[in-house]
Amino acid sequence: MHADESRLRRTASESRRWVVKIGSALATREGAGLNADAIAEWAGQLAELRRAGRDVIVVTSGAVAEGAARLGWKVRPHSLHQLQAAAAIGQMGLVRCWELAFKECGLLAAQILLTHEDIANRERYLNSRSTLWTLLQLGVVPVINENDTVATEEIKLGDNDTLAGLVSNLVEADLLVILTDQDGLMTADPRSDPTATLIGAAEAEDPRLLAIAGDGGAWGRGGMRTKVTAARLAARSATSTVIVGGRRPGVLLDIAAGRSVGTLLAAPATKLAARKLWLAGTLHVRGRLKLDAGACRVLREQGKSLLPVGVMAIEGEFERGELVSCIDESGREVARGLVNYSARETAAIKGLPSSRLEEALGYLREPELIHRDNLALV
Ligand code: GLU
Repeated sequence: MHADESRLRRTASESRRWVVKIGSALATREGAGLNADAIAEWAGQLAELRRAGRDVIVVTSGAVAEGAARLGWKVRPHSLHQLQAAAAIGQMGLVRCWELAFKECGLLAAQILLTHEDIANRERYLNSRSTLWTLLQLGVVPVINENDTVATEEIKLGDNDTLAGLVSNLVEADLLVILTDQDGLMTADPRSDPTATLIGAAEAEDPRLLAIAGDGGAWGRGGMRTKVTAARLAARSATSTVIVGGRRPGVLLDIAAGRSVGTLLAAPATKLAARKLWLAGTLHVRGRLKLDAGACRVLREQGKSLLPVGVMAIEGEFERGELVSCIDESGREVARGLVNYSARETAAIKGLPSSRLEEALGYLREPELIHRDNLALV
């Protein structure tokens, strides 16, 4: 489906920040609890990627399946409350298993429980993003699952596929790897069509993919459709996706070596365009910051973050994490971005050098008013 798979594979192999999603079917042994050997095998590969200077983040499901096994349940219950209870039990084992596996490789792991809402809510978005980035800087591997006690999106439908796409946006991953029990995305359902072949590479936004992936029903929960949708979500932050069989030995290292394994769904090449689209498309502008000429120049020409010192005036009511528009002295829009401080806080620190923020606020979060990663020029 894609003429230039080898170039796309090379780009994927050079990816620096990886999100690796592992589904319940792989992380557990059908009804018999966690597959610690398989988890140790992936942790070993992830540790190797880390040693090679890449950032790695795990999105793992398996809590419900492990909890059900601990409770001695033989079939998956229909009641959401029972599934949530099972998740609360199983999460303890799941996170312990990953922790031990990474410890064997000399790495620290950290548990993060998130919901879709956490990522949609601007303040929680920024808070979770700061925590994740700090963990990565510390060389720790974040191990993420849905917080199944307070949310049920992934229990109902996605087996964490969507969550993995959203996490890829959150950390601006270069690559999302979805490990599954299939070889990748096929041209048709191989169980009903013997001529089905594996798709080596395609554009993530190719509309034909959703039709090929079907409605997910026949392929079970978190089927190919939610994986293609996750790849489309990931593409918003210029993250390409590989959907691949997780039981294949050395699968992650194969991807890192640029080998043609599974299906590569390529994101649009220009990161800025994707990010701009994402910022512009998903959020409403809540306020305006009028910048002095120096700040406008630094944003436009040097691609730097916006510091409070460059802000002359503010308009509107906005909270930390909301989208604001940056305008020049003549009122022309220069950029848009997610602001680290509320309107009230911004009013207190506008025009101040970074060294005086703590004194003005009584605390300091980020030294930037808008970090350059959250800023799109217009
Ligand atoms: N977050 C859930 C888990 O880790 C989703 C998977 C499921 O519903 O089985 O188990």
